[in-house]
Amino acid sequence: MVFESLSEKLQSTLKNLTGKGRLTEKDIDAAMREVKLALLEADVNFKVVKQFVKTVKERSIGSDVMESLTPGQQVIKIVNEELTSMMGTGESQLELKSRPGIIMMCGLQGAGKTTTSAKLAKHLKKKGKKPLLVACDVYRPAAIKQLQVVGSQVEVEVFTLGDKVNPVDIAKAGVEYAKKNGLDTVLLDTAGRLHIDEALMEELQKIVQEVSPEEILLVLDAMTGQDAVNVADTFDDQLKLTGVVLTKLDGDTRGGAALSIRAVTEVPIKFIAMGEKLDQIEVFHPDRMASRILGMGDVLSLIEKAQANVDEQKAKELEAKLRNQTFTLDDFLDQMEQMRNLGPLDELLGMIPGMDSKALKGVSLDNKEFAHVEAIIKSMTRQEREKPEIIDMSRRKRIAKGSGTSPVEVNRLLKQFKDIKKMMKQFGAMGKQMKKRKMRL
Ligand code: GDP
Repeated sequence: MVFESLSEKLQSTLKNLTGKGRLTEKDIDAAMREVKLALLEADVNFKVVKQFVKTVKERSIGSDVMESLTPGQQVIKIVNEELTSMMGTGESQLELKSRPGIIMMCGLQGAGKTTTSAKLAKHLKKKGKKPLLVACDVYRPAAIKQLQVVGSQVEVEVFTLGDKVNPVDIAKAGVEYAKKNGLDTVLLDTAGRLHIDEALMEELQKIVQEVSPEEILLVLDAMTGQDAVNVADTFDDQLKLTGVVLTKLDGDTRGGAALSIRAVTEVPIKFIAMGEKLDQIEVFHPDRMASRILGMGDVLSLIEKAQANVDEQKAKELEAKLRNQTFTLDDFLDQMEQMRNLGPLDELLGMIPGMDSKALKGVSLDNKEFAHVEAIIKSMTRQEREKPEIIDMSRRKRIAKGSGTSPVEVNRLLKQFKDIKKMMKQFGAMGKQMKKRKMRL
């Protein structure tokens, strides 16, 4: 999970507070020392940490204790609020009013610009936009080809004039092409360098002058630590960024530097990317990230993600089935199909509060396995699909034969089905628990 160790440390420190009926200034001091260490260890910018701890302390000591909260809960509430405001002020939308709306993607080489451009194009397409990807990186060998590959994966057209034309002219021509072809959003994939250099900045500034992009997004690799903050600062200085996209938040490095970007540069984080797959991008919500770090899970993100991919009517039916305990293997198959579109299961589970994703590694839905699962379920009788408990050894053998698999595989599937059923029940229960917890906090 993102910021796993920061999250663990903060949670255990804050848990100590909730157990206490009264909090003294000393208790708060001690807790804030731990919080400070946890943030510093996670590589959050020193100045940002100092300010953060100071504010939380002042607010904790000076606040009127609300009747509905224990003092410990009150502190958690304040930490949550301050963590949120450190990362931003609400969701920052893309501001695209012109037609076509132009987004310039920039960043250092390897930050994930090309991948992220394709991800954003896909994201925009899902929202009903008609995007165009424009290949302005004429320096890195194979950059154009790479954009064409990811473009075709997300089924978005890629505009290129090859690598012999000036990037500024390519950008202009790309915008003209979009206008002529009724495409409403242009994503300019610009060149990166290993380090910031004058020539790169000048080229980007020229593109800005010529096509006036409404959005200038800096793609930043969250794994580069404090360097990410410096890069953001310089790019913002030279280009007046409108937003940041943080990539590689799936990495298990400390990542805290990324959390300081907003506080240091005041440029909002607009999206976060957590994987190489082209749907692994999310709109950034500071409040949800804060709750995720503090272990409140990210039920909202989960729901949003599910809504984008899952048929709502079907979801309602599924909910009823879970409630009535009539979830069958047929539904399971149906679910697997839908969940495949959601991304890796353990990533989803990480968003659920209190969910131990490690315990559920075994139920992850591997694409390759899907064909087998389908064959196995299709080889069952209707009765077996509805009541898998009746599947004994001889039925298992018959099903394995019918599906061209082995009894062991059939067994595994039945176990997965049981686990998923259990997990879904748990999820339902947790949803209720969360609501209660939220109200208390
Ligand atoms: P560019 O040089 O900035 O255009 O970077 P690329 O788009 O070529 O990405 C560099 C590498 O980072 C590629 O191997 C990508 O697959 C990978 N990458 C991009 N975004 C992510 C992410 O969110 N998570 C992970 N793990 N890898 C990513």
